[in-house]
Amino acid sequence: MLTVHTVAELRAQVARWKQAGDRIAFVPTMGNLHAGHLQLIARARTAAPRTVASVFVNPLQFGPNEDFERYPRTLPDDRAKLEAAGCDLLFAPDVPEMYPRGRDAFTTVSVPGLNALLDGEFRPGHFDGVATVVSLLFHQVQPDIAVFGEKDWQQLQVIRRMVGDLQMPIAILGHPTARDADGLAMSSRNQYLSADERRVAPEIHRTLVDVTGSLAAGSRDYAGLQQGAMARLSAAGFAPQYVQIRAPNLSDPAPDATEWVVLVAAFLGRTRLIDNRYLCL
Ligand code: AMP
Repeated sequence: MLTVHTVAELRAQVARWKQAGDRIAFVPTMGNLHAGHLQLIARARTAAPRTVASVFVNPLQFGPNEDFERYPRTLPDDRAKLEAAGCDLLFAPDVPEMYPRGRDAFTTVSVPGLNALLDGEFRPGHFDGVATVVSLLFHQVQPDIAVFGEKDWQQLQVIRRMVGDLQMPIAILGHPTARDADGLAMSSRNQYLSADERRVAPEIHRTLVDVTGSLAAGSRDYAGLQQGAMARLSAAGFAPQYVQIRAPNLSDPAPDATEWVVLVAAFLGRTRLIDNRYLCL
């Protein structure tokens, strides 16, 4: 596996592959890789002959009081995992390589509407940071395919809308959420949890299973289900920000809906966790 830190080196390798007629599948990450990320790499490898991963902790998508500084940075370990997973190239730029004119002077890509709902309400600017860095990475890597986790359901919708609106010739694949045995969605942020918090954390997944169970059993009392789930998470020790039952594209469910996604964001101590569950009848 090739590891490059500059856009010039990346472009040179991508050009060689394109000249040879190889398609490229791309997996953007912030590093600190776990089995969920590696499933995205495996999926990418089945989708195209060349797989590129990026590791970049993107300052643009962190709010002023969020965890940008303490976000775990484990590049040598990530590199070894990507190599073992059969990735062809790791792109690991530093912040000046990505934003040479400084983050505040940089062109912004913004997906209106979707960027203000749910997580966008609690993390203002987050999805503009995501859309901007993914758009930049797409121009640098020029992939034919890009793979994203359904764990970040809203992020996946933002990327799909951006790629559609800007007519980027890139197929976006969503991949199901990888979970620990007790149901907790794998996340780099799980390592912030204390042992006690880690024991409580799977209550989010159990709550999602029960809400989708109620929908499957015929309940359409969305407000009641949402409130019940919020109360349950509070009683378990979380500070929930939202539990929302939405259509898969995050609009309100139609009266005759047969598919939904239930989305949760909740603090457990200082750690913000998100998860979701899709249901189709
Ligand atoms: P991150 O490094 O957190 O920015 O995530 C990089 C990519 O991995 C994103 O597309 C995430 O949605 C995806 N991802 C994160 N956690 C999981 C998981 N538990 N299962 C599947 N994909 C995930």
